[in-house]
Amino acid sequence: MEPTTEDQVTTFEELGLAPELLAAVRDAGYALPTPIQRDAIPLVLKGRDLMGLAQTGTGKTAAFTLPILQRLIGGPRRTRVLVLTPTRELAAQVEASFVNYAKHVDVDVIPVYGGVPLEPQERALRSGVDVVVATPGRLLDHLERQNIDFDALEFLVLDEADRMLDMGFAPQINRIVAQLPPYRQTLLFSATMPAEVEALARKYLRKPVVVQVGRRSEAASTVTHAVYPVPRERKSALLVELLRNDLMDSVLIFTRTKHGADRVVSHLERAGIQATALHADKTQAQRTRALEAFKLGEARILVATDIAQRGLDVSGISHVINYDVPQQPEDYVHRIGRTGRAAQTGDAFTFMSTDEIAMVRTIERMLGQPIPRISVPGYDFGTVAAD
Ligand code: AMP
Repeated sequence: MEPTTEDQVTTFEELGLAPELLAAVRDAGYALPTPIQRDAIPLVLKGRDLMGLAQTGTGKTAAFTLPILQRLIGGPRRTRVLVLTPTRELAAQVEASFVNYAKHVDVDVIPVYGGVPLEPQERALRSGVDVVVATPGRLLDHLERQNIDFDALEFLVLDEADRMLDMGFAPQINRIVAQLPPYRQTLLFSATMPAEVEALARKYLRKPVVVQVGRRSEAASTVTHAVYPVPRERKSALLVELLRNDLMDSVLIFTRTKHGADRVVSHLERAGIQATALHADKTQAQRTRALEAFKLGEARILVATDIAQRGLDVSGISHVINYDVPQQPEDYVHRIGRTGRAAQTGDAFTFMSTDEIAMVRTIERMLGQPIPRISVPGYDFGTVAAD
């Protein structure tokens, strides 16, 4: 491939996409491919295995969805594509991308994840679908019941591989891949590349091309970050103070625990601010409804836990607030990936109590840059005894 530079403009037409897909891209309102799309689409069309080092928000979903759809056009109706994702939300989002970009081609997609009844998925799988987007656990349930035939599989996508390994899915992934045909095209996407992900890539990819967006561990560049030093017991008051600011039209707040999320929601409600919690204690229907309401702009404030942090496609978010400092520095980068999406700006604020100073330092070392501090009089360490 010709080396490309950042300022070189490439259009979707130049990437070799079929007219049906170019029409879908136009319908989506995309003017130009993002860097990962520019680099990955021609390689996937050529049949290469690929390792994409890109976080959510870079346009990575379309980078694999579009060329795979192109390769499916006119083929037999068999299950030819499997996408594995860490969470239900990401599976739903990837499925929505396939459906969206496939609007002018005849391709069927089914999402397969837990928390909803098996039987409708079983019926759909048995009737034959082109693309299966699945979380590993539920897919294994179906494989054990022999609901899926992977004999015709041509494409395997491991999406957010680092997160799948973090969540302990390695044994499930191995059991699934063992049932796939060895001659296939495999694409692996990951926001970070720890040794475990490299090992997974070595095991399952053949002569992969590595496509990297930005530097390793680089947070999305359009995001403005800031750290608010604040004693733990003043966090909820500071949150209310910030949310009263009208510029915050949609805000995604992250807490460490489910109880933390519920506490923040009830505190906000007491202050007259409506907020919705999104975490694993909620049923699938409740999570989907909360996400939909947020996307439609009906809910302005969503309070989520770690489990929900990846795979939420919430374009148009104006702010992310880390109510608790993320436990893993990588999570900070992932969360910031929620804003800073293609051609959007967003602000990311992190509340740091005294016991979280060391974690913020670790994050800064990983980013390779300090995060500016914003001291709010009355809420910072100076005005209240340290917690
Ligand atoms: P992803 O990184 O796949 O989660 O995508 C991030 C967001 O960028 C999604 O909301 C996409 O709809 C959007 N997007 C993807 N490709 C483009 C593009 N070429 N131009 C503008 N927005 C895009």
